[in-house]
Amino acid sequence: MQFISTRGKSVAENAARAISKGLADDGGLFVPETFPDLTGKLSDMIEMDYSERAALVIGSYLDEYEKKELLSACVKAYGLFDDGDAAPLVKTDDGFFIMELFHGPTLAFKDLALTLLPYLLRRGSDISGITEDILILVATSGDTGKAALEGFRDKEGIKIMVFYPSEGVSDMQKLQMSTQEGDNVKVIAVKGNFDDCQTAVKNVFADADTAEILKTAGVITSSANSINFGRLVPQIVYYFSAYCDLVSSGEIKLGEKINFVVPTGNFGNILAGYYAERMGLPIGKLICASNSNNVLTDFFSTGTYDANREFYKTMSPSMDILISSNLERLVFEVSGRNFELTAKRMAELRAGGKYSVSEPEKAMLKNDFYAACCKESECTATIASFFQEYGYVLDPHTAVAVKVSSDYKKATGDDKCTVVLSTASPYKFPQSVLYALNGERGSDAFCCAEKLYSLSADPIPQQITSLKKKEKRFTEVIEPSEVREAVLKFAAGK
Ligand SMILES: *Cc1c(COP(=O)(O)O)cnc(C)c1O
Repeated sequence: MQFISTRGKSVAENAARAISKGLADDGGLFVPETFPDLTGKLSDMIEMDYSERAALVIGSYLDEYEKKELLSACVKAYGLFDDGDAAPLVKTDDGFFIMELFHGPTLAFKDLALTLLPYLLRRGSDISGITEDILILVATSGDTGKAALEGFRDKEGIKIMVFYPSEGVSDMQKLQMSTQEGDNVKVIAVKGNFDDCQTAVKNVFADADTAEILKTAGVITSSANSINFGRLVPQIVYYFSAYCDLVSSGEIKLGEKINFVVPTGNFGNILAGYYAERMGLPIGKLICASNSNNVLTDFFSTGTYDANREFYKTMSPSMDILISSNLERLVFEVSGRNFELTAKRMAELRAGGKYSVSEPEKAMLKNDFYAACCKESECTATIASFFQEYGYVLDPHTAVAVKVSSDYKKATGDDKCTVVLSTASPYKFPQSVLYALNGERGSDAFCCAEKLYSLSADPIPQQITSLKKKEKRFTEVIEPSEVREAVLKFAAGK
């Protein structure tokens, strides 16, 4: 399969090169030339375990990777999850399921892609004959950073550098990153919010001088953010897997449509659901749930994407994003894969912070998507009421999705079987969750985690308890303008 850039100026690349490079040379995002159709494979997939489903879905795009080897890489990656189940479904009500995507090494859904990405990237660069060392640059709203650090630590021929907004992540997320072990890792806080951080890192990718200096030093950069197709493709798997599990347990019939509700920030997770739909998965609606940073809600209702607005710091920090990078891939699809138009819109976004799609395009979007948002007070209330009703503790991101899901049902009467994607463990946000459950304002994350445990009886994951004893290795804070220099320094081994 060949991959083309959404902006049309770069040559098509195979999957191995698209993943090794991360971003196309023209600044666009790599997209598959066509969507493989897995409709005929669905009934086979029902019998498979998660790793086999993953190897099938991922292999349908990555045809130059050896099939047996890909399967064993999936077995190894998903063997790192609790009970060997990477995406278990929990039924809380009739026709309503929570898909728990947080049982991996770092307790967030990012693990489903980032446990596998090191293999996809290293093998991809071997296949492509890339001999340089790879420097992975990551801008994180909290969870990608830790998952990428864990995935890439001590991998040969790879270095990884993570930038996070200094005040834009939870205490637990910050601790997870600042205590990271490994000889090839670096973590730096950047002053500002996630968008500032992401822009600074994107500028390094786009800077030809930097690339030249690095190349002379035998280093190429790549991305572990969801702009990399290698991040996106493992995320398609769990949509298929949830569907197969529902058929296999008799909850739905093969062919019946179901809805997915996705707490959304950079639009990577939900875009993977859209790709699953294009590959033949029977999906009714993809429901895009935002917090107070509701730029996507407004986009789906008005057809105008306008990032010129106040930025809110919320209790769901991994969704505090105003520039959703992956929307470019969706806008490219609804434009009828019009490269010029997509490039023009992205230039408008860069220059003026906004662009619009046409009425027919907007109608197409409404066909597949529904979007709504949830205020802070509603998020808190949802965590409390869901616990009261079902004895289940939601993390704040998942709570945003649960709230939007119930609003959607009320507004439309659509009662299709619904799967809410749960993107993180509540123990990554213990202060906010404890406050929602009993009104207590605790400042110490570990203390709140203990209290949360005594309320809920859900065991505290050892990934959290072990943080307490770990040494803080990374405390540096820099300006966005200093990101490039920091990259060059780290690449040079300083
Ligand atoms: C990253 C993240 C999100 C947002 O996912 P996108 O792919 O950026 O839309 C939501 N919840 C949690 C917990 C996350 O870590």
